[in-house]
Amino acid sequence: MIGKCLCGEIEFEIEGTIPNLFQCHCSLCRKQGGVASNAGTIVHESKFSWKSGANKVAYYKKDTGFSSNFCSSCGSPVPNQLGDTNKIWIPAGLLEGDEGQQIVAHIYTKSKAGWDNIPDSGQHFDEMPDIETFYNMLQRPER
Ligand SMILES: [Zn+2]
Ligand SMILES: [Zn+2]
Repeated sequence: MIGKCLCGEIEFEIEGTIPNLFQCHCSLCRKQGGVASNAGTIVHESKFSWKSGANKVAYYKKDTGFSSNFCSSCGSPVPNQLGDTNKIWIPAGLLEGDEGQQIVAHIYTKSKAGWDNIPDSGQHFDEMPDIETFYNMLQRPER
């Protein structure tokens, strides 16, 4: 599946079935996206490739380690390696297709904004769950 930023200069591709999605309600994602929570998924780096605009990717890293990749032309958040893992965070809103992927988890629910109403559906985690367990939970069978 193809993903594109707002201006279209950055394009990437994910091979295979798109995993299910999660929303992060932490205070950093809130500032980064200007929203109550972002929606994303996690893929293995072997499934991910930049198609165009990789040189347009700007990077910001906070002292605490939180990092964000974004398009230097339009500001869209773009895929970002998760720390020193072999996993890549994908912003769900950039994906161009619908394979029936669903939001199955909410993380950092402890940090949510007072005006953020988290639905009861899906699994809730106070903070960040163990990355390997979480990654496996999101994967779906290949179609
Ligand atoms: Zn862009
Ligand atoms: Zn977050």
